[in-house]
Amino acid sequence: MAKDRLAEVLQEWEAVIGLEIHTELTSLNTKMFCGCPVAFGGEVNTRVCPVCLGMPGSLPVPNEKAIESTILAGLAMECDISRFSQFHRKNYFYPDMPKDYQISQYDIPFCVGGHLDVEVDGDGAGERADRAGLRPSEDGAYTTRIGVTRLHLEEDTGKMIHVGGAEGRIAGATHSLIDFNRAGTALMELVSEPDMRTPEEARRFAQKLRLILLTLGVSDCNMEEGSMRVDANCSVRSRGDVELGVKTEVKNVNSFKALHDALAFEIVRQAELLASGHEVEQETRHWDAGAKRTSSLRTKEYASDYRYFPEPDMVPFTFDDAYVERMRATLPELPDARKARFIAAYGLPVRDATALTGDLALAAFYERAVAAAGVARSKQVSNWTLGDFSAFLNANGLEADETCVSPSALAELVGLIEDATISGKQGKDVFAEMAKGGGAPGAIVERLGMRQLSDTSEVERIVDEVLAANPDEVASYRGGKTSLVGFFVGQVMRATKGQANPGVVNEVLARRLAQ
Ligand SMILES: [Zn+2]
Repeated sequence: MAKDRLAEVLQEWEAVIGLEIHTELTSLNTKMFCGCPVAFGGEVNTRVCPVCLGMPGSLPVPNEKAIESTILAGLAMECDISRFSQFHRKNYFYPDMPKDYQISQYDIPFCVGGHLDVEVDGDGAGERADRAGLRPSEDGAYTTRIGVTRLHLEEDTGKMIHVGGAEGRIAGATHSLIDFNRAGTALMELVSEPDMRTPEEARRFAQKLRLILLTLGVSDCNMEEGSMRVDANCSVRSRGDVELGVKTEVKNVNSFKALHDALAFEIVRQAELLASGHEVEQETRHWDAGAKRTSSLRTKEYASDYRYFPEPDMVPFTFDDAYVERMRATLPELPDARKARFIAAYGLPVRDATALTGDLALAAFYERAVAAAGVARSKQVSNWTLGDFSAFLNANGLEADETCVSPSALAELVGLIEDATISGKQGKDVFAEMAKGGGAPGAIVERLGMRQLSDTSEVERIVDEVLAANPDEVASYRGGKTSLVGFFVGQVMRATKGQANPGVVNEVLARRLAQ
């Protein structure tokens, strides 16, 4: 999908996007209504019991921690917490649900009516901000508020494995196998308002939700392993139209990039259909990340009659104000607050604070490094954390707390550069050694003989040698060709194997050449 094509389409058409995000509460030790362990993988059909297999006579016992986790997530998104709530049975017949109904929530979810603020800087951010009357920040990003309709709790289904067809596709499969290990795992479902207008806004919303849930510690939010699953509803309409277009639901997006790309494809596809006089069919579509396209999975979806009724095996829940306030008091520092603190306490630009607080391990690493280096060096520490350190993490698929480079070591490196023991360029070489497990930066500098040459008399001696060896250039310089100063700096650097302090070299050269 060419980015330009999406931008072109968005000139004439407006996309309307809503998300449904299911998140498994993987931090719980047990499933939603029984004591079976929760973990990814495992020998099939071993993490099961009569309750999650729906055996006659078995009774569900609600997991208190799961309800707490959901209410905490709701509070983090500034939802209203229902003072009365209950579970319902959603009746349907499908092999992945052994009871033939799913315990879910219907008209009274635990949490309703919250929002997430997301910063967006892609997919024509400037134009979108103009149209919506949003004020972009200095670096071209804008902040928009996306409504959260509801947040409820339910149990996950088992996993179907379709054999004999293309992976993940029902078409072509000859038979299906079922693994019930996942059945009954606590699953939190968020439904957003259809407030998103570009694929980038949808991606940022999902990323923000993930960051909040990771901060709360309720899930590992692993999209590849399916503990966070995003379905996107998307329609387009001519700019200026009020009526909504026919929407499709896109499934099988297993990464944030897939979410963005699938929506970009879908917006262009729908706009082109409508522009050529065709209609969009209401259907579920499957994203094929390899082919980079969506294809029809099921058409003619009728609103199913799930015959919801209150779960008779469980009493309803009531929460008083004191309980809700007690929960609110346990909320940790949330991403927006942390970002604001990074800007205020460390004097960081918005861009730095956003990048650092967008990753929990990186933010923690940064805070420890600044504590060691001193707040006066907060920007330099940020530059190194987001620069060489992050590049090293990305190249090796590591988190900030999984490396041999400690926060105090990075602080020491910044100190060596700031006090001119080594140059910034040498710092990069020292960092490369640190990343290889080469030890503390000070020791590396000594071992490699990198100590920067800042001794003025020593630099003067070398400058004099360079000037004496290049009399023609000296004459040209004194005749007005001052651009030759770069040549002299280069010669001095070569003579000192790059170890001369550039500031001292420039100062001495200017002094000597003026004589
Ligand atoms: Zn069980």
